[in-house]
Amino acid sequence: MTAIAEGIKERSDVLESDKWNVEALYPNLAAWQAEFEHICHPDKRPHWPELLVFKGKLGTGAKTLKEFFNLSFGTERKISKLYTYAHMRHDEDLANEAHKKGYNLISTIYYEFAQELSWAEPEILALSDEIIKSYLKDPVLADYHFYLERVVRLKAHTLSSESEELIALAGKALSTSPTAFSAFNNADLKFPAIKDSKGQTQELTHGKYLLYLRSKDRELRKNAFQTLHRTFSGFENMIAELFNGHMQHHVFNKRARKYPSCLEASLFPNQIDTKVYTNLVQTVRKGLSSLHSYMTLRKKALKVDELHFYDLYVPLVENVDLRYDYKTAESMVVQSVAPLGQEYQSILKKGLEEQRWVDRYENRRKRSGAYSTGSYDTMPYILMNFQGGFHDLMTLAHEAGHSMHSYMSHKHQPYQYSSYPIFLAEVASTFNEELMFHYLMQQNLKPEEKAFLINQKIEDIRATFFRQTMFAEFELTAHKLAEDNVPLTPGLLKEIYRKLNADFFGPEVVLDTEIEIEWGRIPHFYSNFYVYQYATGISAAHALFEKVTSEGESARKAYLNFLSSGSSKYPLDLLQSAGVNMRQEQPIQATLKQFDRLVQELSKLI
Ligand SMILES: [Zn+2]
Repeated sequence: MTAIAEGIKERSDVLESDKWNVEALYPNLAAWQAEFEHICHPDKRPHWPELLVFKGKLGTGAKTLKEFFNLSFGTERKISKLYTYAHMRHDEDLANEAHKKGYNLISTIYYEFAQELSWAEPEILALSDEIIKSYLKDPVLADYHFYLERVVRLKAHTLSSESEELIALAGKALSTSPTAFSAFNNADLKFPAIKDSKGQTQELTHGKYLLYLRSKDRELRKNAFQTLHRTFSGFENMIAELFNGHMQHHVFNKRARKYPSCLEASLFPNQIDTKVYTNLVQTVRKGLSSLHSYMTLRKKALKVDELHFYDLYVPLVENVDLRYDYKTAESMVVQSVAPLGQEYQSILKKGLEEQRWVDRYENRRKRSGAYSTGSYDTMPYILMNFQGGFHDLMTLAHEAGHSMHSYMSHKHQPYQYSSYPIFLAEVASTFNEELMFHYLMQQNLKPEEKAFLINQKIEDIRATFFRQTMFAEFELTAHKLAEDNVPLTPGLLKEIYRKLNADFFGPEVVLDTEIEIEWGRIPHFYSNFYVYQYATGISAAHALFEKVTSEGESARKAYLNFLSSGSSKYPLDLLQSAGVNMRQEQPIQATLKQFDRLVQELSKLI
């Protein structure tokens, strides 16, 4: 296991075998450009007059509607392939002018495509119930039956065309809170410098905050925690107003569209039952003693008299230096997926080793981080900046999970059902991290390496499962109060948040007053009931993993079938077919139990 100690290369110096095979899409930019002109007619307005021909005719018969769907989905499919190429080339070298231009062109066209089609869904929603009923029964539309069903279920919450127009017009004015918060948080807000235990001055920024909280220097952790939150407290009235503005937008939407709650207004269009949300919050609450036990272990392991909020992120285990070269990591990822069967494993092996799905290493001006990308007519590519650490190994496992999910859904579904919904997006990737974790634990590890891995896993669950569920509960409580016209004052929000932290972290953690304002610095609270999906995603993945590894062949087949299903059914139905019901306690409890086991194991090891 060798470290990678080369200088950072220019893109042109990177070995072909280390780059993703982007030429499989188009041999060069000129070929892409020719296809772009051919498909998108950039100089013509509208770009696709053949689509506009259908305007006003979607109610005239099933055959016409089918022709329209074939044409619109067919065009989108071609644009998405063009987009994939341009966006991959763009990310290879962010300063490459030719690729930047291509990327801008296709992004604009994508937007214009949506604009030119924006009449279609409202037209379908305005069709009479009679026509829709006949369409849903017509075998001519069989390929689009579920798509149509998904569109028309919004009918009950769609208003007259004048009202819809008015709501669309008000859209920008109603959504200033998130941008105002972001401008404050990212541009205006500055933190005072802090001191470490040696009395040296350290700069405090958003980026450095988490690094400091993970530091062994307790004085530095404490100063970072207190200074950051006290700075936010200085703006608490303004922050509460911004937050309130965002809540009021959701209350407006709920009332205008006649939903029973803000929660329902957010989840219904994504086809998620509100029970999934409330079940998550309630079941995690019942299992909070698991998190409390971890806090007890933390206090003991850190040997502190009092456990404070600034003691929650520092690792309990010395950082063991697990290193892997890329080839080793690649073969470990391939070996780790053996429980999913020969076919799955050989597709991934071929993709990684021969077909060059992965753009492996950093080069100058390459996009940072990692992601899985691709479209219906391309390979499921992976961008990485592999450095050879443990984190990189897990990232490759994670992204390979996404890519295999895409591969299988693309292979088995027609274009219109080929991409998976956000609610399911992190299931396959988390599942493969789980596979890697278990693969590693079966290796011949030193006790400190084992402890390191378990500690990482515990922290993962704490951050993804417990913390996001606590956020989800806060979000739900705040929305309910806003629905009931209760003024969301800083005092009230702080009280709710303080109580939540007391319940979640339990009696071992000292309730530092600074924690009360933490909600005021979380950008995700300016999304609309988003964070719970982190917790449901990890729970579903754990529950499926347990099934596949303990129940054998039928569970494995059901899981592979799930991976092959894209968005061909409602997300909860897809999970249910794989054996997991997210409306019930069981999958949530599975994660709680796993957390318990890990905490017990760690306490034996340290
Ligand atoms: Zn992911």
